[in-house]
Amino acid sequence: MSRTLKAAITSSTAPSGNDSVGQAVRELIADVRARGDAAVRELSARFDGWEPETFRLDEAQLEKIISTLDPQVVEDIETVQANVRRFAEAQRASMSELEIETAPGVFLGHRHLPVQSVGAYVPGGRYPLTASAHMTIVTAKAAGVPRVIACTPPIRGEIPAATVAAMHLAGADEIYLLGGVQAIAAMSVGTETISPVDMLAGPGNAYVAEAKRQLFGEVGIDLFAGPTEILIVADDEADPFIVAVDLLSQAEHGPDSPAVLVTTSERVATEVQRHIEEILPGLQTADIAGPAWRDHGQIVLADDLDEAYRIADSFASEHVQILTANPREALEKMHTYGALFLGEGTCVSYGDKVIGTNHVLPTRGAARYTGGLWVGKYLRTVTYQEVRDAKSSADLGVLCGRAARVELFEGHARSGDVRAAKYAGVPLDW
Ligand code: NAD
Repeated sequence: MSRTLKAAITSSTAPSGNDSVGQAVRELIADVRARGDAAVRELSARFDGWEPETFRLDEAQLEKIISTLDPQVVEDIETVQANVRRFAEAQRASMSELEIETAPGVFLGHRHLPVQSVGAYVPGGRYPLTASAHMTIVTAKAAGVPRVIACTPPIRGEIPAATVAAMHLAGADEIYLLGGVQAIAAMSVGTETISPVDMLAGPGNAYVAEAKRQLFGEVGIDLFAGPTEILIVADDEADPFIVAVDLLSQAEHGPDSPAVLVTTSERVATEVQRHIEEILPGLQTADIAGPAWRDHGQIVLADDLDEAYRIADSFASEHVQILTANPREALEKMHTYGALFLGEGTCVSYGDKVIGTNHVLPTRGAARYTGGLWVGKYLRTVTYQEVRDAKSSADLGVLCGRAARVELFEGHARSGDVRAAKYAGVPLDW
């Protein structure tokens, strides 16, 4: 029987579209749809105090912005992008084309075709989320997407130079300094100056996630990647100081970011609480991490690791970190998460910032039905078929005639009949 030592005041819910965020987003999308660039300009001025002559950055502006950066920052961006690209390309290479012969001369196959245009959203309301540019754009390019446009908001009126550099170095074909719903709507429905895309990708706050939800269908989306979450499974071997630091590393994302510890050790639970109280006052982002931990932090005590894994699965958390004596067993024992971080040598921050796996991951329970962003999300697996053998086609025609008539589809049935007639002399009786 598990016990909750520290409960969250509120729990997260999936975006429903019925709340005030849903209503506000609906109105903003309708405005961009009706008035195009004029609406985008007004909304950018209203929400971001940002109203430049044009939102798109040209080559000269890009070079000027990048030249303001410390060369080490640029080198680090290139190193991380190489890590992301290497993993994405290996994943792409693992997706083989397929063709099988199911009967003599009957060939069925599939291919993976890249989406033709993608709108990558790189969040930036609170922090310049440079790494989201690597995750969305590098991965789209590794998939072979020909047109990748990318939007990021200014931060408190400033251009986020490192993020813009990351977007450019990742290979974005068009870069816009534009954020929030206005960016998502402009990329989806198009304006006088922005051609619409086929698919949206990237994380964002509740407004961005809700805008993607409402536009899904009109455009494709990668997944619901909203406010970030962390869950740590720890046994008595875990270092409570590291557990505390790692919980706060994700709580600082936003005051609505859940941070959960599921542990089999009462000692670890108590010490983690103490360390968090000690660390928080000196953390520069305590104004965010503090409320997140207070309102969305939880500590659950499990009887044993099997129960801990079951509890962890029930959260369907975006990030699950395993700090136990045998972390690899979680690969077999856990079933529902966005990404696993096995052992003390790694952490969610490595995944978020540097190691090369993708950090755009499902939140608010979406891990129950999807993994995170990866090269495969940008690919459409399409099938083809060919029948080169006359007898096989005639056999299929007879079968098709019967199967279609069960469904009362006479037209379908006749497509089978004519082949059975032509290739095997089966008389037409209509
Ligand atoms: P953001 O870019 O998502 O949102 C900023 C924009 O929100 C602004 O440009 C503004 O236009 C809009 N906005 C702000 N207040 C608004 C209002 N009242 N009405 C309408 N629009 C409004 O940046 P952020 O706010 O810093 O959020 C980034 C989010 O991304 C965080 O919640 C973080 O946890 C999440 N994230 C998730 C993942 C993941 O994979 N799940 C990864 C990275 C980041």
